[in-house]
Amino acid sequence: MQCRICGSSAEHKTYQVREMMLGLQDEHTYFQCSQCQCLQIAVIPDNLQDYYPQNYYSYQAPARGNRLRRALVRLRDYYAVTGESQPGHLLNLLMPNPKLATLRPLNLKPDSTVLDVGCGAGLILYSLRELGFTKLLGIDPFNQDHIEYPNGLRIARQDIFQTGGQWDAIMFHHAFEHLPAQQQTLQQVFKLLKPEGKVLLRIPTVSSWAWQHYGVNWSQLDAPRHLFLHAQESVHELARQTGFEVERVVYDSNAFQFWGSEQYEKGIALRSPRSWAESPDNAIFTRKQIAAFEKRAQELNAVNQGDQAAFYLRKVSGTAPA
Ligand SMILES: [Zn+2]
Repeated sequence: MQCRICGSSAEHKTYQVREMMLGLQDEHTYFQCSQCQCLQIAVIPDNLQDYYPQNYYSYQAPARGNRLRRALVRLRDYYAVTGESQPGHLLNLLMPNPKLATLRPLNLKPDSTVLDVGCGAGLILYSLRELGFTKLLGIDPFNQDHIEYPNGLRIARQDIFQTGGQWDAIMFHHAFEHLPAQQQTLQQVFKLLKPEGKVLLRIPTVSSWAWQHYGVNWSQLDAPRHLFLHAQESVHELARQTGFEVERVVYDSNAFQFWGSEQYEKGIALRSPRSWAESPDNAIFTRKQIAAFEKRAQELNAVNQGDQAAFYLRKVSGTAPA
């Protein structure tokens, strides 16, 4: 087996991983590259689309609320994205928005051009649009149709190779690990990114306590939808191959790595009626346990051992490597 990231054909350790989101429990072979440490699926199933149900989580529409709630959410989100606004800071402590907070190192301005790849319903861009950002585009080829929101946000049903323009920021929020063409995707990102632009890759990572501890039952392995589970080393390798460098890594994992993986160990699928995700009252955890998991996740993040991270990339020079 040859690693699709670094090309190494050395002896790689293999794993049999069950499908546990839907609970089909069919097995898929993965291997972890002994060179760059990237864990990857051995063979991409021909029927991969069958593993994405119609109610897949990225298709949820933005939640609405009354006028007061929307105003408070805007204050909170403005703080999350920019780090500015005192009342926003307080609201962010009360009801944090960790997804939006990952955008802060991108230093976005209201006139920044932002492309969100594989964005599903586009909830993150929707929040930015509500904050007054106007030059936004979301793309997702697996949406059923284009989406035009009343606030002017547009989500196009297309992939990155069908997308043009020049962007200040290009981001992938838990989308990159689903893409078969890793190098080609970042090569296209290079073409679409302005010279001083930034890339945000939010992905699960095997450079984590959860992969070490839970192995094939690690909830974010998510066979067979996640084709690549990167390590710190393999992200650096991929960046190097495509003209980027990793500027910064911020771990942003949460309690899911614990409760999801412990459910999988017991054979409880994410969509099972006994899952914390579906019905907390019927789940095997108490609210107190979940709170403890959340605290533990923050501790792991602080020592770069959480099971997901935000990688910030920038161009090394103006021209792509040959
Ligand atoms: Zn490799």
